[in-house]
Amino acid sequence: MDLGIAGRKAIVCAASQGLGRACALALAREGVLVVINARRPEPLARTAEEIRRETGAQVTPVACDITTEEGRAAALAACPEPDILVNNAGGPPPGDFRNWSREDWIRALDANMLTPIFLIKAVIDGMCGRKFGRIVNITSGAVKSPIPTLGLSNGARAGLTGFVAGLARQVAQHNVTINNLLPGPFLTERLRANSRAAAEKAGRPVDEIIAERARSSPAGRVGDPAEFGAACAFLCATSSGYIVGQNFLLDGGAFNATMG
Ligand code: NAP
Repeated sequence: MDLGIAGRKAIVCAASQGLGRACALALAREGVLVVINARRPEPLARTAEEIRRETGAQVTPVACDITTEEGRAAALAACPEPDILVNNAGGPPPGDFRNWSREDWIRALDANMLTPIFLIKAVIDGMCGRKFGRIVNITSGAVKSPIPTLGLSNGARAGLTGFVAGLARQVAQHNVTINNLLPGPFLTERLRANSRAAAEKAGRPVDEIIAERARSSPAGRVGDPAEFGAACAFLCATSSGYIVGQNFLLDGGAFNATMG
């Protein structure tokens, strides 16, 4: 299926590995010129080279912390007029809300709510003027089904979701769409790290913890990041202009509901 976006320009945030990388790779496969970002320069440069080699697309790495003003300015300087923006950043740590300070909350809000909002603010009027824009926010299944230990994530991402629900309906007339992708468990470094922590706590092998998560899903497995990337690219397709302000859960059916 030709998504009709060859030659378009994209910024994909937090993309040296995991879900961000998968989105960048899927877009590059469609012939999109991608600017990818992460904090650590070496893994980012490696990923850029791998995507270039695999797809032949132009891939520009910008090493910076996307949750800072300077970081966002650097990403935007490399791609001032993106047609596609994929918002992503690391997730907040787990814990008990009784122990979280104002600073902990501000960090989570900065990363998972305000950073996407400021990037959207920087690009959306240009997208509206050019009559094409696709914005995809990577949020979390926790937006629909809160994870008790991830209160910072539940709260910050719900704030972003509420904000973009309103904005998406103000820009859709210009062929600019904003949608959210809500990952359930996908086999990335973050899932491995979280499972390692759980394995150590329980004194069990990490593979067992991951297998347990896989069994708890109707799909009987955890997600493959490539599946997530493909969904992201689909939302960015020329023909996806009527998909507006939606929250797509990719969790193998784990959220039990008759309707979304
Ligand atoms: P991951 O494998 O840990 O990858 C995170 C990526 O983000 C890395 O490339 C990392 O590179 C980059 N990054 C982190 N903080 C950044 C920052 N401040 N500025 C720029 N880049 C940054 O994580 P993932 O599993 O792909 O998860 C991506 C997002 O989806 C996270 O917010 C996560 O909470 C959420 N999520 C994931 C799952 C899952 O099962 N995987 C489920 C629900 C929600 P550097 O460290 O070099 O910056």
